[in-house]
Amino acid sequence: MAWTFDIRTALFLGAFLSLLIGVLLLVVRRSVSGGLQPSLRWWIAGTLLYPVGFTLIALRGVIDDLWTAVVSNMAIAAAFACFAVALRVFNGGPQRRTRLGVLVVLVAATAAYFTFWIPDLSARTGWISALDAILLGSSARAIYRRGQALSAAMHVTGFLFVFSTVLMILRSGQHLILHTGISTVFTPTPMQVTAFGFGGLLPVIGTVGFLLMCTERSQQELASAARLDYLTGICNRRAIEDLASRAIAAARRHGMPLAMMIIDVDHFKRINDEHGHEAGDQALIETVRRIRDSLRAEDLVGRLGGEEFVAVMPNTDAQSALAAAGRTRQAFADAPMFVSGSQVRVTVSVGVAVLVAEDAQFSHLLRRADRAMYAAKAAGRNRVMLDGAET
Ligand code: GH3
Ligand code: MG
Ligand code: MG
Repeated sequence: MAWTFDIRTALFLGAFLSLLIGVLLLVVRRSVSGGLQPSLRWWIAGTLLYPVGFTLIALRGVIDDLWTAVVSNMAIAAAFACFAVALRVFNGGPQRRTRLGVLVVLVAATAAYFTFWIPDLSARTGWISALDAILLGSSARAIYRRGQALSAAMHVTGFLFVFSTVLMILRSGQHLILHTGISTVFTPTPMQVTAFGFGGLLPVIGTVGFLLMCTERSQQELASAARLDYLTGICNRRAIEDLASRAIAAARRHGMPLAMMIIDVDHFKRINDEHGHEAGDQALIETVRRIRDSLRAEDLVGRLGGEEFVAVMPNTDAQSALAAAGRTRQAFADAPMFVSGSQVRVTVSVGVAVLVAEDAQFSHLLRRADRAMYAAKAAGRNRVMLDGAET
């Protein structure tokens, strides 16, 4: 018996798969991180519109052409548009919602024109394929936008849309240029078989790629969150140690000066005791703001723990470091803070150390800056001390 590919069956199967994927995504959508939810919602909309289109095409000849030729193609085009918006929201590029919406309306108009005014299946298929190619290409473009590092997951999704775009261009050309048309939508020509066979798999493969992209993004977010101080949003100890070590290595390599300063809030325990822990937290946030404002953009600032901060200043000699430390101290001494409705006078003690030949690593420099900071405390607080090693 000759093997035949039944397009109607493929359409129903494709619709069922996409519906299944869409429902599954609806069920598990909460396990995707919050920032990715808007993108995921567009993707789910796509997977749910797609089966509407596929089912309606499969019903050609059973129900009215308005549904099977116009609404069906519009639903599929809308699904493609949703995928494109989802990927554009994911990658933070321009969303192009209006442009994509216009294309969907054009698909409907084209389908209506070649169904009711000038009935021509081949012209309809050709023009709709061309418009679908643009919609699918929009997804491909969202991923292959220039200047973006691509992961394997992005390639899976990207390649899928590139392939689909090319397929639709070929299908369009076959109808509009070569005029090797079809008598009914269910004629199993190689192109119809490929288009509908592959088309049924698009939401499945696409969703695998898209979910992998989501997982990857969540991992990146977690990794970067693990490097930030939860309260103040600046680098935590681990991250600043990393960045500072690199800056120290670069300074040593190029023979450039580098300075470090440790800033410790004076009598911070009193702020907590007198105004509450909440006020203490507010004071720490304001402390970071004042430190940042006293330094250059290229200086690295991190929280070592509690009320103790470190700044690493590349290209900075002892004199400039002392000036920066003085500015920082002054930023606190000059103006009280307003936290939780009360005015609080906050001062800081600053220890400064500059990189010398013996400092092989971060911890050496840190130890000397710390020593200077304790000397500033011992000398009465609210002052700056330079580590003795280089004075
Ligand atoms: P000194 O002038 O000698 O530095 O005195 P100090 O009170 O600032 O130093 P001490 O190390 O004795 O106390 C630091 C306090 O900082 C104790 C701790 O409860 C408080 N602290 C540490 N982390 C936080 C935080 O994230 N939020 C708040 N509100 N307080 C914190
Ligand atoms: Mg303190
Ligand atoms: Mg301390």
